[in-house]
Amino acid sequence: MYYSHALIPTLRDDPADAEVISHKLMLRAGFIRKLSAGIYCYLPLALRVLRKIEKIVREEMATTGAQELLLPALQPSELWEETGRWQQYGKELIRLRDRHDHDFCLGPTHEEVITDLVRKEIRSYRQLPITLYQIQTKFRDEMRPRFGIMRGREFIMKDAYSFDASVEGAKINYQKMYDAYHRIFSRVGLTFRAVEADNGLIGGSQSDEFMVLTETGEEEIISCTACLYAANIEKTEVGHRGMGDPCPRCGEPLKIDRGIEVGHVFLLGTKYSKEMKALFLNERGEERFFEMGCYGIGVSRIIAAAIEQNHDEKGIIWPISIAPYIVHIVPVQDKSDDVMMAAKQIYTALMERGIDVLFDDRAERPGVKFNDADLLGAPYQIVIGEKNLEKGLIELKERKTGTFTKIETDHAISHVASYFGAAPKQ
Ligand code: ATP
Ligand code: MG
Repeated sequence: MYYSHALIPTLRDDPADAEVISHKLMLRAGFIRKLSAGIYCYLPLALRVLRKIEKIVREEMATTGAQELLLPALQPSELWEETGRWQQYGKELIRLRDRHDHDFCLGPTHEEVITDLVRKEIRSYRQLPITLYQIQTKFRDEMRPRFGIMRGREFIMKDAYSFDASVEGAKINYQKMYDAYHRIFSRVGLTFRAVEADNGLIGGSQSDEFMVLTETGEEEIISCTACLYAANIEKTEVGHRGMGDPCPRCGEPLKIDRGIEVGHVFLLGTKYSKEMKALFLNERGEERFFEMGCYGIGVSRIIAAAIEQNHDEKGIIWPISIAPYIVHIVPVQDKSDDVMMAAKQIYTALMERGIDVLFDDRAERPGVKFNDADLLGAPYQIVIGEKNLEKGLIELKERKTGTFTKIETDHAISHVASYFGAAPKQ
């Protein structure tokens, strides 16, 4: 991509209304723009990150055997009346009425719709287990939308639902998802931990949250200094235990960290299948309620969480797996034909090898280009300057460490390509 044609509206100063670093950087680096409270436009750079996260999610969902579908965002109130959530959900549910005076909501989650689909389409234990998922926009009229896309009123979620004939089967599916979540969050480059969230309300059910540890996280996580015990303070039955209190598992002292919830897996049992009379026939031809699980990932929230964990005072430092561009080429003197030609050659060669590369072809001062490159956060920068070029050299800068490596121009293309493990496209 040529920078001069790209929609990357960077800002010089921190926007006044952004509290956390990820929100500030997403605005400053031109990733998002606010339309209304908790409602954002994803500009091209943010969409590239989102698509890469989605790809990783889809690959790992496929590994578990889950099938992708797409459910409506617009949902009739009748389904929500069946589970009682039309009343329970309160003001967080965005409600509307159609021209025939029928009540609808914009889906904050899809247990009702998926259970309705499955009760109509699946009759026999032979069709089970089945896990269905979607990546879709969700709507929640949050009391306090904040931190940019971290807590939005419109956001993108991956939600999966498993249907099993038995409790044991449901637990196997739960474990599969739990393991897939570990792979997903590792692959997107997050430092995270799974914490227990035994929700007393749906007794006996198991629930784990995946937390990205950051200083600014909204959630408080209590964990043991000795064993692997960890739980969400707000949601756990052990309740208001504090720093230094004994761990309920091993008695050693507890500590408190802050985190951002990026995923949640939940063993639902027959809660929804009972409320919605979702039944299948077992081996003996008897009617049984589906054993369900539900599994969410805050796909758009991951973008913000990744920035919280990967930045410095100059800007974002993207993990390679989700970087909008892997390489950012900075020709230092845009008036020099030699510099621009060498830069273009490298750009073309990397593009041919399928590497995502941004070419700063703007007529800007070198300082502006360097600052923008650091701000946008491509993991690698290739700096092409007159003096080095005369000696037959270009520079490769690693954004994370700030280290420069000089490479011979003649070898630059093959070196850089082998560096990123990309082969020429056939
Ligand atoms: P929270 O406690 O943060 O409100 P939740 O428990 O309501 O989250 P779930 O219903 O489990 O969230 O939704 C699945 C995932 O969707 C969450 O783990 C989170 O990553 C993401 N998510 C939830 N609400 C929002 C929101 N308002 N904006 C962005 N992502 C969200
Ligand atoms: Mg919530």
